[in-house]
Amino acid sequence: MDFQVLKDSVYSSPAFVLDEIEVTKALEILAELRTQCGCKILYSIKSLPFSAVMDMAKPFVDGFSVSSLFEARLADEVLAGQSSIHLTTPGIRQDELDELSLLCSHISFNSLTQHQRYSETAGAQSSIGLRVNPKLSFLHDERFDPCRQHSKLGVAIDELSHSICLDQIEGLHVHNVFSATDFTPLIKTIEKLQQHLGAGLAQLEWLNIGGGYLFGQIEDHRPFVELVNKLKHDFGVEVYIEPGKAIVGRAGHLVATVLDRFVSDGETIVILDTSINHNPEVFEYQRQPELHEHDPDGQYAAILAGCTCLAGDVFGQYRFKEPLEVGDKVVFKNVGAYTLIKANRFNGYNLPDIYLSNSLRVKKMKHYDYQDYRRQWLAD
Ligand SMILES: *Cc1c(COP(=O)(O)O)cnc(C)c1O
Repeated sequence: MDFQVLKDSVYSSPAFVLDEIEVTKALEILAELRTQCGCKILYSIKSLPFSAVMDMAKPFVDGFSVSSLFEARLADEVLAGQSSIHLTTPGIRQDELDELSLLCSHISFNSLTQHQRYSETAGAQSSIGLRVNPKLSFLHDERFDPCRQHSKLGVAIDELSHSICLDQIEGLHVHNVFSATDFTPLIKTIEKLQQHLGAGLAQLEWLNIGGGYLFGQIEDHRPFVELVNKLKHDFGVEVYIEPGKAIVGRAGHLVATVLDRFVSDGETIVILDTSINHNPEVFEYQRQPELHEHDPDGQYAAILAGCTCLAGDVFGQYRFKEPLEVGDKVVFKNVGAYTLIKANRFNGYNLPDIYLSNSLRVKKMKHYDYQDYRRQWLAD
């Protein structure tokens, strides 16, 4: 991505730019994996459920994975019945079950109680599975760790191995990492599943090994290919993966414009026309996003801050070769996943416009305006 060209061709600000070339690259890597080992690929739409991404993904994937009725409806609208939709969530509601099971080819219940309550109804339309919690932590931050103490995600593996439910399901779902850049967690997870469930795995039709692996940032895919081949050979199961961030993480960039610059207690503050409300994980996890203009050797330091009234609405301190001036544009890079979907209009600031860029052009795909804000907040 040529960020200078991007800044010149994006004519409204703030803007979220989706790089079609990066999305395609990520999808091609996954398609290559599928050729090598026959795994099935689902796009986990919760990372960015934008129709342009789903349209791009559609020819490359075997379906989408979803976590709610609205996601399932949107997935169905895009897929138009052409591929499968897989659901797992702790939040299944009785009043949505019929529609969910019509829309979703596969449902993995999050608990034994959920399974007991709903599997008979849902099983008439959908292939039923269970989310298993392998009780293997690979993450230091427990806010991301599905295998933390007292986890709400999935049936504990030792409980499952003693449950009669194992005979009543067609699939298992496991998801226990976030942004992993090697396959060690996966190998250990599958080992543990085999130890506890043994031949029980051979009774299954499918095994969904979740998302969380950044395939594009992992050099050697052979351990994955071998593992999937072995699972297919030993147990005769279909193996699904459901990446989200691996498809869109490096394909989304947030362009913002400098509104003001001043000095506060000796540090330069630069106010942007975006805010952490356009990328809430910056605040939630106190994580500083990459900035294209940042130069570690630059002699001008500045704290980039958002335009809302929250004191902590700050992206962090960066360094620049030239001082930033009012009107300059900056680009937060690689913020494609879990950014726009979490964005909000706090303080009444509009959401970013969405652009799609490829080698030929940068095109505006979506614009929000006052009417969207008004519709959200005026009582019916
Ligand atoms: C969020 C999630 C995914 C996608 O995770 P990424 O880290 O974006 O790849 C897949 N499966 C489940 C169950 C999830 O909760």
